[in-house]
Amino acid sequence: MTDAGHLLSDLITPTVRLGVTGLSRSGKTVFITGLVKSLLDLNAVPRFSALDRQHGLKVYLEPQPDDDVPRFQFEDHLAALSGPDPDWPESTRRISQLRLTLEWPAGDWARQALGMPSRLHIDIVDYPGEWLIDLALLDQSFSDWSADAMHYARTAFKPEISADFLKFCGKQAAGDPAEEAIAIEGAKLFKTYLGQSRQRDPSRAILGPGRFLLPGDLEGSPLITFFPLDLPREKNVGRAGSLHALLERRYESYKTHVVEPFFKKHFSRLDRQVVLIDVLTALNGGAKGLSDLEHGLEGVLKAFRPGANSWLSFILPRRIDKIAFAATKADHIHVTSHRRLEAILDKAVARAARRSDMAGADTRSFALAALRATENVDKVASGVSYHCVRGRPVRGEKVDGRTFDGKKAAVVFPGDLPDDPLAAFDPEVAQVGQYAFTRFAPPQLLPTPDVPVGRAAVSTAAEPPWGPTHDGASHASPAWPHIGLDRLFTFLFGDELP
Ligand code: GDP
Repeated sequence: MTDAGHLLSDLITPTVRLGVTGLSRSGKTVFITGLVKSLLDLNAVPRFSALDRQHGLKVYLEPQPDDDVPRFQFEDHLAALSGPDPDWPESTRRISQLRLTLEWPAGDWARQALGMPSRLHIDIVDYPGEWLIDLALLDQSFSDWSADAMHYARTAFKPEISADFLKFCGKQAAGDPAEEAIAIEGAKLFKTYLGQSRQRDPSRAILGPGRFLLPGDLEGSPLITFFPLDLPREKNVGRAGSLHALLERRYESYKTHVVEPFFKKHFSRLDRQVVLIDVLTALNGGAKGLSDLEHGLEGVLKAFRPGANSWLSFILPRRIDKIAFAATKADHIHVTSHRRLEAILDKAVARAARRSDMAGADTRSFALAALRATENVDKVASGVSYHCVRGRPVRGEKVDGRTFDGKKAAVVFPGDLPDDPLAAFDPEVAQVGQYAFTRFAPPQLLPTPDVPVGRAAVSTAAEPPWGPTHDGASHASPAWPHIGLDRLFTFLFGDELP
């Protein structure tokens, strides 16, 4: 193509901005790496069915359009996952972006005449789900937020988590003179309490501000040097020079300089969205775990479909039209439970959508493993058949009292998910800790097979495309084993492809 043709083609190339979000460790980094690697590897097994019959298809990475957003470190993450001693990559800590371009021979006569292929840019925007929590702050004053935050701290699931912070707050009076050292100490204790409550009680995952949990490049900045105070009901604005006034000013600056720009500059430009959720961990929290998950989903849906008069509704020039909800790490369970996992997530999304009055976007739920680390194994013991998975538990992981070294393989029975999704929400049936999920190391990957496009075997998620392994240490899988990436991609982009 000529330079002029390239320029014109760039101008008229449709761009779809895909947001990828989820709480910390929900699987965003592995998902983006797996999706991009699978698309770049046209010869990979299993192939992407949406692209299987497209002759002349090219997929490549291009420089991203926004110079002020860090690039998603695809190559580093891929190197971590596909080296001789594969390890999970470093997780998402801030926003990042990657541009992937799909190109195929022109379909319409105008492009053919100009010698221009058809192209599609997919701009993938990875951002922490914790940052979505902050949307609620935009409609809250400092005193309203303080009242909520202090209430949550006092009703913490484990009181020792918030004890130091509450003790410190007990010594501060709103009218005390503003002191930086107090603001720093209070913010530090508040941040520690938030982090610990997140770890110990997943229901607190919706507590913010989000940057206290994942500060991105704000670490140490005055913008996150504030904390909530017990405020007298009648006193809504701090007296000049008081601690109250200082913390209130910082809170408002956080909204103006951190929260608003994120929603205006990044969030409002998304066209489609993937929300990754660790449903298996929620299931292990029994019925309460699932009700917390539903609560969290409600908050997420409110961000995607804000009320007509909310702050966000004024800045959203367009609306996200497709949202994929994905239950990640589905390779922790046997294939017979994958559909059940999908059905449980689907129920949780439907219930949250009803409560948040969500309508107008095409949503679908998926069971997903962006990198499949296990294979399905059926074991018979005392005449009973168990649906197990086999993989290499990560170093230090305990299975049946035995500590693993990261090299040896283990066969584990994680438990079967219920056939009726409603059973997972029923406190009479769903118990805490009823499953045994194991953290597995990434598989050892074989080099991409050199199979010409159009002749590669297409595998299904039902059976792994590689045979049974006999020794975990030498276990090697085909190019990029996954569960569900193909279906999810087709849902999101099928309408944009030839
Ligand atoms: P992020 O914080 O959302 O970026 O989460 P990551 O993508 O870093 O994933 C967090 C952890 O979840 C990883 O270190 C893995 O232990 C696990 N994980 C993520 N995706 C998969 C998957 O497809 N299969 C398995 N077995 N584990 C996964």
